[in-house]
Amino acid sequence: MSLQALSLGLYIHVPFCANLCAYCNFYKERPIKSLVQAYLFEINREWERWKSILSQRSVSTIFFGGGSPSSLSCRDLETLCTHMQALLPQVNEWTVEVSPTTINLEKLKVLKEGGVTRISMGIQSFQTDILEYLGRRQTRAQVYRAYDWIRTAGFNNINLDLIFHPDFADFNLWEMDLNEAIHLSPEHISTYCLSLERLEDPFRRGRCVNEDREASLYLRTWDWLENHDYRHYEVSNFARGGHACLHNLNTWRMQEWIGLGPSAASQWNRQRFQNANAVHDWLSKGKINCMDLSEEMLCADCIIFGLRMREGVCLDTLQKRFPFADVTKYAPLWQQFKLEGLVNMKNNQLTCTDKGLLLVDALAREILSYVADY
Ligand code: SF4
Repeated sequence: MSLQALSLGLYIHVPFCANLCAYCNFYKERPIKSLVQAYLFEINREWERWKSILSQRSVSTIFFGGGSPSSLSCRDLETLCTHMQALLPQVNEWTVEVSPTTINLEKLKVLKEGGVTRISMGIQSFQTDILEYLGRRQTRAQVYRAYDWIRTAGFNNINLDLIFHPDFADFNLWEMDLNEAIHLSPEHISTYCLSLERLEDPFRRGRCVNEDREASLYLRTWDWLENHDYRHYEVSNFARGGHACLHNLNTWRMQEWIGLGPSAASQWNRQRFQNANAVHDWLSKGKINCMDLSEEMLCADCIIFGLRMREGVCLDTLQKRFPFADVTKYAPLWQQFKLEGLVNMKNNQLTCTDKGLLLVDALAREILSYVADY
């Protein structure tokens, strides 16, 4: 497949958060004025570097993530949005992540007028004790007020992020959060399991994950949301009315994406690379973790990320896309996975069973062991 035929996503990392949550591994800083100005200066230079490529290749999706882009002022958001204007005729979806404590109606109007089509709000939980446990400062009232503002500003595509803890004593606590989110009726819900490995020591000490309970929380979540009309299309993602996140689908289908901003990752022109973490000088530090991608590697990643989606992956299409990769070499692995009840195969379309989806990271490790140069 020619590179021109691949769809291209643009990711902009906005590394600022008013409050730094204990469980978060993303690169972020507090939004001190001088740092924000240094960031905008560097983004502008990086934008100039990529501008001609981005306009020639027609960007299909834009995603402002973080950090929390809503911690920028109206004026700074306007500056970032202005850069995107030249790309808009081709863009099918433009998402901006916001937090309930830093968003307001004025900022949402700037985003709407700038051309943003989708808002993703990290709420994690509606319950005060869980929010305190997570180190989040927001209140339930702030979440409801922010949600109203998003609708008032005219957005009809909203995602809410929720977090569940594998150590929750029973489903009821989690069910309360799910129900409250469903009651708001967003078009999309993402649910993440809080991994104890990601927590700082005071949270983690003396705790271990009960894997059966974690699996049961996943399965019940999938059922619960499906029963409320949210189609489960990826391990952690659910959409109503065809509102699956196009930007993430582009990534999971191993198309191409360019990441701007500190720590942002790119997959472009058969290379995968990252920017350094440094607001003052990520650009001058150049690419880090740069990796040339062979057809074998891209093909393996297509299978791994394809299996995270309910639609799975078509092995015939994959072989056509990567003629120099040997898709047939995995046949013994599919046989073994089928015997273990982890995958189904119909007309060469490989999909995970529920059990396979629960173990999808272990499946990925097995798949990678078939790729010599990874
Ligand atoms: S607001 Fe989001 S990005 Fe910022 S520290 Fe918390 S979880 Fe991480």
